[in-house]
Amino acid sequence: MPLVVPLIVVLAISGVVLLLLRWTFAQPWAAPLKIRPEPGPVRLTAERMRVTSRWTSALPPVLVLGAGLLLFDSFLHTGELVVVDAVIDFFAILLIYDFVYYLAHRFLFHGELMFRQHAVHHGAKYPQVQHSLHVHPLETATGILLLLFSTWLVGPVHVDTFAATFLVYSIMNLAIHCGLDFGRFPLRFLGHMARVHDTHHRGMNRGNYASITPIFDLLFGTAE
Ligand SMILES: [Zn+2]
Ligand SMILES: [Zn+2]
Repeated sequence: MPLVVPLIVVLAISGVVLLLLRWTFAQPWAAPLKIRPEPGPVRLTAERMRVTSRWTSALPPVLVLGAGLLLFDSFLHTGELVVVDAVIDFFAILLIYDFVYYLAHRFLFHGELMFRQHAVHHGAKYPQVQHSLHVHPLETATGILLLLFSTWLVGPVHVDTFAATFLVYSIMNLAIHCGLDFGRFPLRFLGHMARVHDTHHRGMNRGNYASITPIFDLLFGTAE
């Protein structure tokens, strides 16, 4: 199965980034970088976090592998990797994903249909990187299915191109919850996205729905 090795690489890098961001947040020298200098009371119990984070860690690789096993040829290929095509596919998938996720987050998660499930994630009022895993399984599955759908729309794409988009999807999910604004190149953009997503977590009626870029929030007037 050609998807297994890239998938393991993505999960390993994501795991290292998660630990690195968590370690950084705990360091005294990182205090000036914190988006909320005085974090409020943590309302999430370790037990609740354990249950949701298990699901959120396990579901994406299971769904990606499942889609790879059942539908490989309809959205992926293992032929020659043409760099120009790979770059176009990479940005096209992420742009489509950012748009469909924006719609899902705004109208599904904050609409009537999945409000209760999404409220689980919004239990994190002062986001830190570990809260990126505090997500209801239905919401996690929706996010990964939207990424697979975006890939299918663009595809078939090279398996390594998909792995690269899956890596960006995972890293952005960690970065926007890291609670740190690095403020300088090359992490300035990640810090900006963490700040706007932190604003989103301040209530269930706030803007900033997209998770990869601010494009669609700016376009549709929901940027705060
Ligand atoms: Zn939300
Ligand atoms: Zn969040």
